Amino acid sequence: MVLEAVSCKHCGQTKHVKRYGTTRAGTQRYRCYDCGRTFVQTYTHKARDPLVKEQITQMVLNGAGIRDTARVLGVNRNTVSAQFKKLAS
Ligand SMILES: [Zn+2]
Repeated sequence: MVLEAVSCKHCGQTKHVKRYGTTRAGTQRYRCYDCGRTFVQTYTHKARDPLVKEQITQMVLNGAGIRDTARVLGVNRNTVSAQFKKLAS
């Protein structure tokens, strides 16, 4: 059995990450006991990935349109729109 260190998708911590059940799709879910948030290693739905959300933020801040951003990242334009509204508030 090979144990690999899982790093938190939110804070990058590897020490206090524990298995935390599975998703409905059967993927292993992890919980970070440092920041208290949960995540999976490979997201079934791209838009759930914090890295994709960060890319949306960067593209919107650099003046890319909602449809441009959606096309480039391969997510729905409503997802980009929702993230944009979160940034605006
Ligand atoms: Zn964390």
